[in-house]
Amino acid sequence: MSIFDSPLYQDALGQLEDAAKIMQLDPNILERLKYPKRALQVSVPIRLDDGSVKTFMGFRVQHNMTLGPGKGGIRYHPKVDLSETAGLAMLMTFKCALVGLPLGGAKGGVCVDPGQLSRQELQSLTRRYATEIKLIVGPTSDIPAPDIGTDGQTMAWFMDTYSQIEGYAVPGVVTGKPIAIGGSLGRNESTGKGVAFCINFAAKKIGMEINRNTTVAIHGFGKVGVPAAEDLYAQGAKIVAVSDVSCGIYNKDGIDLRSAVEWVKQRKLLKDLPGAKIISNEELLALDVDILIPAAIDGVVTKDNARNVKAKIIAEGANGPLTREAIDIVCKRGAFLIPDILCNAGGVIVSYFEWVQGLQNFFWDLNEINTKLHGILQKSFEEVYACSKSYKCDMKKAALITALKRLDKAMRLRGLFPS
Ligand code: GLU
Repeated sequence: MSIFDSPLYQDALGQLEDAAKIMQLDPNILERLKYPKRALQVSVPIRLDDGSVKTFMGFRVQHNMTLGPGKGGIRYHPKVDLSETAGLAMLMTFKCALVGLPLGGAKGGVCVDPGQLSRQELQSLTRRYATEIKLIVGPTSDIPAPDIGTDGQTMAWFMDTYSQIEGYAVPGVVTGKPIAIGGSLGRNESTGKGVAFCINFAAKKIGMEINRNTTVAIHGFGKVGVPAAEDLYAQGAKIVAVSDVSCGIYNKDGIDLRSAVEWVKQRKLLKDLPGAKIISNEELLALDVDILIPAAIDGVVTKDNARNVKAKIIAEGANGPLTREAIDIVCKRGAFLIPDILCNAGGVIVSYFEWVQGLQNFFWDLNEINTKLHGILQKSFEEVYACSKSYKCDMKKAALITALKRLDKAMRLRGLFPS
């Protein structure tokens, strides 16, 4: 497989080229950004509980590190491959640049269905993967974090493995750690909270109020979707539908969010939630709602179903949930699209806070974290909005242009080695 083969890489490349054309980016800068800086592919052999050995493929890709150390999550999912990881690393370069973090873009992953492994097998997988990619990660070179299929426990095992090899605790090697080992307050909810903040900024721009009449549908009721739903619900919005891999549930009068969250906490999946009206994921995406949050995975809205989407605000909670063609379709129809690299940047922003707090050994309270998160997202949102007005383009292209301007400046200053 080549770096270019996956739909996600092609999409990210297409977005890059679209934005480069509009802003007339220097072709020499564009040429460099089309390729990842470094890509590592590793075998991750582990002993399963039945005594047999099974090997999984793992990856870590560093797309661009002009602005600082690589930053980006680790994904455990059966769809993970080298090219998809490279595409996600490219999105991280743009995300970190857009919100002004001194960090580059990276991503990692293992091609595995984590639901099929026991806790012990997952621990073995994480420790062996960490050992294999230790070659290129570290607290000043490339700092992983959770993504789909990984969580605080995964980060704890990763940090412990790295620390065992070094001989002392190195909390700065990952973010998204549990609080007890140097994690940050607010990190778990930060992506979803950021999504809710961005929805509020967008609503203001189009004169929409968030109140009892505001309807919301959420595709992906997990680490991003749940906290986003909770924040909007607390503001009074009516969450009419949520879904996960097992099913979707719908109630035109608003679902009882607390019991849905409780159910998912206990049972992991929405399936069998008592009294719920079941809908398919496709039906959820097509609901006539004010706000749609695709917060599960990439490529769920494509040119084939984009015309069915009726929401006024579409908030990309996942990375790449709408394809390039789908974005053109919904934006032409007049929807307000909040692009992924802005909408879900809350996660990496609080990751950055965690890293900074760890380096200083001085930890902030939740209020300080959420105030700083809100400030960075608001400033970034306004920059992207102003850019979309001055270039007369949609918010997706404007976000890319804003990020590329920052990267272009830094890459010129640092120059090309050797010159
Ligand atoms: N996986 C998250 C993302 O896609 C967070 C990355 C991080 O915190 O480094 O943005």
